[in-house]
Amino acid sequence: MTHHCHAHNCTRSVPPKMFMCRTHWFMVPKDMQSAIWRTYRPGQEIDKRPSDDYLRAASAAVKKVAAKEGVTIVETGYDVALKTRERARQGAEQ
Ligand SMILES: [Zn+2]
Repeated sequence: MTHHCHAHNCTRSVPPKMFMCRTHWFMVPKDMQSAIWRTYRPGQEIDKRPSDDYLRAASAAVKKVAAKEGVTIVETGYDVALKTRERARQGAEQ
């Protein structure tokens, strides 16, 4: 199974536990890096159930790196996943 760097348009292969390739990871501010590590749960890349906090941290990092490369990302795949969860929760309450 191949796993790619999560930076926008980056196709470099990285180990599943690594969020981005070295080049992109070092473009992520320290506080955002620690937010990702703090919210990361081992095995989430296998069961595909990262926490909401992780999705928010990952989204912020992807947007930050893209901005440094001159690309504006309005909505990441993480934002979409968060919205889908939010809708599912609201639906469950009704
Ligand atoms: Zn990369």
